[in-house]
Amino acid sequence: MASSNDNKSTEGGFQDGNSDPNDEETNELCPGFKDVDAFVKYGLGAVLSATKASAGLPQAGDDYDFYRSFPGFQEFCESQGDKLLHLMSQIMQHHGCRSHMRDRNKLTGLEERFDLVVDSNDTILERAGILLDEADGVNRSQQPVMPAGFQPPKIVVSSWNRKGSGSGSRPETFRLLHAKNVARPQLKFKEKVDNSNTPFIPKIFIKPNATKPLPSYFTNKQIRKERPEDLDVPAALADFIHQQRTQEHVEDMFAHPYQYELDHFTTPENLLSKPEVQMYKPMAETKCSFIDTLEDLVALNEKLCKLSEFAVDLEHHSYRSFLGLTCLMQISTREEDFIIDTLELRSEMYILNEAFTDPATVKVFHGADSDIEWLQKDFGLYVVNLFDTHQASRALNLARHSLDHLLKHFCNVDSDKRYQLADWRIRPLPDEMVQYARTDTHYLLYIYDSMRAQLLEFHHGQPGLLQSVWNKSKDISLKKYLKPIFTEESYLELQRKQKKSFNTQQLTAFRLLFAWRDKLARQEDESTGYVLPTHMMSKISEELPKEPQGIIACCNPVPPLVRQQVNELHLLVQQAREMPLLKVSKDGCQQWAYVLSVLFGPHDTSRISAAFLKELETKSDQTSLSVAHMKASRIIESFENPFRMYLPPSDVHINKNAKFDPSSKIFEVNKLHLLSYHMSNHMFAKERNKAKQSYQESLQNVATVRQQAAVSGGKKRERVASEVGESTPKPSKKLMKSADKPQKTEPPSQESFTPFDYSQSDLSVFAGSSFVFFLCKFKHANMLTFFLIIIILYRGFRHNWPKR
Ligand code: AMP
Ligand code: MN
Ligand code: ZN
Repeated sequence: MASSNDNKSTEGGFQDGNSDPNDEETNELCPGFKDVDAFVKYGLGAVLSATKASAGLPQAGDDYDFYRSFPGFQEFCESQGDKLLHLMSQIMQHHGCRSHMRDRNKLTGLEERFDLVVDSNDTILERAGILLDEADGVNRSQQPVMPAGFQPPKIVVSSWNRKGSGSGSRPETFRLLHAKNVARPQLKFKEKVDNSNTPFIPKIFIKPNATKPLPSYFTNKQIRKERPEDLDVPAALADFIHQQRTQEHVEDMFAHPYQYELDHFTTPENLLSKPEVQMYKPMAETKCSFIDTLEDLVALNEKLCKLSEFAVDLEHHSYRSFLGLTCLMQISTREEDFIIDTLELRSEMYILNEAFTDPATVKVFHGADSDIEWLQKDFGLYVVNLFDTHQASRALNLARHSLDHLLKHFCNVDSDKRYQLADWRIRPLPDEMVQYARTDTHYLLYIYDSMRAQLLEFHHGQPGLLQSVWNKSKDISLKKYLKPIFTEESYLELQRKQKKSFNTQQLTAFRLLFAWRDKLARQEDESTGYVLPTHMMSKISEELPKEPQGIIACCNPVPPLVRQQVNELHLLVQQAREMPLLKVSKDGCQQWAYVLSVLFGPHDTSRISAAFLKELETKSDQTSLSVAHMKASRIIESFENPFRMYLPPSDVHINKNAKFDPSSKIFEVNKLHLLSYHMSNHMFAKERNKAKQSYQESLQNVATVRQQAAVSGGKKRERVASEVGESTPKPSKKLMKSADKPQKTEPPSQESFTPFDYSQSDLSVFAGSSFVFFLCKFKHANMLTFFLIIIILYRGFRHNWPKR
């Protein structure tokens, strides 16, 4: 098997430590290890070899099923699996984490167990972080809130832990390179970062290698930027004029600037025939230049334009910034390596578009999906003629598709991925990090040659397979960066992953904290994980602490912004506590949230009528959940979307990104909550089907529930409609009280749903918010157009929607 040669125990900087393995976790000297370093070295080596061994196992989908057909293999896997689960359970219990890892028969699937592991990892890492800090003499509880621009010492990046593929050594190695006080690079940026809750608009304003010229919207960008000053009219009028102008450009604004060129790009013949494989130069004999001036960047661009290919990689930082920062670009030609300080040259990087979009020059990346987005987000850079070695690795069906595997496979180079998660903002860059960064591109052109040769060999000289890799690479270069958009449903998506049963109060707390965190993260330009890690947010929601001190107790270590705003957070929790208490089952959470949002408008569960909830509760025989479910389903049913017949069958899943892509029609529909309405329908399709029978039997009953809902909720809907868009709901006892009084008015109709209006939002403190007005214009579009859009859209996208 191809992967068997990867099964060696240790490599790189890690060597086996002293003799005796000792599992006891301690930051003190322990038996068998003469000092902490020896223990750490041993530990890292062990973790690394375990990770390697696990990666060497036949992968699911590939050879796994075949091996699985041998009883010996099956038995071995099962016994090892049990052992591992047992060990994991023990560790988790030792740390006081929830653990039912071994409970194989439980209905809860792999996903829940995965979440359990992630939670436990977070807890354990945090604990380790605290202990290490204590050993360092850092006392967290006395830590002052840092002035803007400075970073408090050492915080474990737990959110990365989530994404990681299970390499236990990563967090530790990250820590090794975590600088204590990195100045915020954002402060030096010439153009301020735009964290506003508005869609991303490409940064491009000059388009080299264009066959279709850049739309005037972008070429006039410089003029447009000066709008507020150059228009000698009141601000509101200036805004209006600006909107009128921008409105003409809606389509252009959200299109891929090189869509036309990419659509018309065909891979040149010579790139589809047998390549001459050119060996890489030894790294030690290769010149490496660090580029941090405009002059050098211009010279580099000129050099690149003359080449037929070069390799590119990026390093990115995402913890102390909302949208993330591209910190480094590595470029390798056949002769030289270049490391570009993209924090320094951020505003000048666009000049590389000349080389990057030149169809005559191949740009080789490994796993370019994120890189393509980061290039657009930070520099307005695009790639025409991309070759992605990750895609080639897939086509060749290699055992693994990571860069370190390719380096080993093709170059017999042992790479050391330790620095992958280092803090790439550090300046000056330590030598070892420069070396690491170079390795990411230095060998890539040779790998590109070798892979092309193999792809042709594989198909006996026929270019089909190679062509498919070029095509897949082109698809990646067509990817568009989409900014994270805060919507009414965002919190539900996250809550669903928590797999915790929340009652109405807890769910409300989660919703309010989520909005607080999003707003603050945008405002302070921090990641949401830095402001308040999800597991802490979940814990606060779960415990609903009565005192501010209780909130602090839910967080360990306490994030600086939580400490600073603990009173604000306390008010939010209090507001949640004032919600009528109703138990909600695990999968009922979304259902309830949905019912609440349908009846009382998005983001407005705080105004829910206690009477209504009580009525539901008492009528359902002592909070019998299944009955409550039924009722919820009936209510949903009674609000059945009249346009359902136009919607796709309930088993299609909607591409998540399309929601945030203004050029996709889904975005428009989403803004109108038509889509969210459908999605919720889809989410509850199963329950609804079950409920359908009983619904039909009890049509009259449904009418009653509906009327009652209308009676208690109707009037509030009206008022709510004028208040939606409050992105950070302020605690409002007054509203809560008035919500208790039943009021009489018309039943809530579907047409009265009000979309989340960003223009009303507190987030308008951010730049660019005026842009949202034109989005709201969509509201007035003819309903018929919408139905058409929905039909076309769902037909068009259907094949793209992965099944659940
Ligand atoms: P690479 O292409 O491997 O050099 O990775 C580029 C950037 O992606 C790194 O600088 C990290 O910011 C990010 N990254 C890579 N791997 C991971 C990971 N496992 N988890 C989170 N971020 C990652
Ligand atoms: Mn990369
Ligand atoms: Zn890299």
